[in-house]
Amino acid sequence: MGIETPAAYNGTEASFTSAILVIEELSKVDASVSVACDVQNTLVNTVFKHHASEELQAKYLPQLATDKVGSFALSEPSSGSDAFALKTTATKSADGSHYVLNGEKMWITNAGEAEIFLVFANVDVSRGYKGITCFVVEKGMGVKVGKREKKLGLRASSTCPLVFEDVVVPASNILGEVGKGYKYAIEILNEGRIGIAAQMVGISQGCFDRTLPYLFQRKQFGSEIGSFQGMQMQFAQAAMEIEAARNLTYNAARLKQEGQPFVKEAAMAKLFASQVAERTTSRCVEWMGGVGFTREFPIEKYYRDCKIGAIYEGTSNIQLLTIAKSLISQYKH
Ligand SMILES: Cc1cc2nc3c(=O)[nH]c(=O)nc-3n(C[C@H](O)[C@H](O)[C@H](O)COP(=O)(O)OP(=O)(O)OC[C@H]3O[C@@H](n4cnc5c(N)ncnc54)[C@H](O)[C@@H]3O)c2cc1C
Repeated sequence: MGIETPAAYNGTEASFTSAILVIEELSKVDASVSVACDVQNTLVNTVFKHHASEELQAKYLPQLATDKVGSFALSEPSSGSDAFALKTTATKSADGSHYVLNGEKMWITNAGEAEIFLVFANVDVSRGYKGITCFVVEKGMGVKVGKREKKLGLRASSTCPLVFEDVVVPASNILGEVGKGYKYAIEILNEGRIGIAAQMVGISQGCFDRTLPYLFQRKQFGSEIGSFQGMQMQFAQAAMEIEAARNLTYNAARLKQEGQPFVKEAAMAKLFASQVAERTTSRCVEWMGGVGFTREFPIEKYYRDCKIGAIYEGTSNIQLLTIAKSLISQYKH
């Protein structure tokens, strides 16, 4: 859970690409496990690594690498795609020693288990999004975790609302600078998307790997169903699409790791990989016939688990808008 975290803080000190590979591998088996790992590594740990003071890093990164789960709390009931319309407030105490948080968060991954929350709250609503600040909030400070959502997929992953009622957070738990939370959130979600792309590649590959052997066991019309050219053309197409999604994902990871512009490529990777995951898992259900639709095999689970790829860390429409924005700045003079 501390893939890129420095060894001095109990981490593995591996690369961003390593984190992407871990997420892909875990997703081949279970997307809920992979999202727990993804949020902790590509969002929570990375925000600490990029922007937190030495003191906050030394205090929290070792815990996150060993025995504590972290959550990234940005979304709210009335702010999803328009994340910076968030309403949670943080009011500074008269002596400046602490802030008092009030508000609600929604859809927070790992919240059922988390003890460390990165919470985005506005310290000065008159400044709009420029008041948004990132706080490190420990559960023990008074975070109320609501009931787990009942979901289509990712059912082993907790997704819960959070309530903050006069939660007192020391000013020393401000992560980075006051008013820079929006910038940290944009940056981290831009790179976090590569993690979701990897999750979608892993789901596609895992589902494909568990389906293909069946095509050479099941016989109809006296032949293995995988021997029919109509089937072969479909699984060849799916294999090509998975490989294309993987290459988009690895390329975005490479660009990010080398410090080159990667925002458009990350959005393309996430969007395309989530589309491939939907197509692949849907085909796999069909190729298995009736048993594909049952819980005898895990194929229907992959189909349910992949749908989230079009929603979290920016919906498909938001990815298209990100790609378009980058193209507009390239071509419009
Ligand atoms: C399982 C799960 C886990 C999550 N984990 C986290 C987490 O850990 N932390 C966190 O902060 N959030 C988390 N989220 C929240 C997630 O990021 C949001 O659900 C997502 O950003 C979409 O926001 P929304 O649900 O409010 O949808 P909305 O923003 O209301 O979007 C609804 C529809 O409108 C479309 N739309 C919106 N604006 C535009 C536009 N400008 N142009 C075109 N179309 C548009 C969208 O594409 C979508 O189709 C999670 C959500 C889920 C379901």
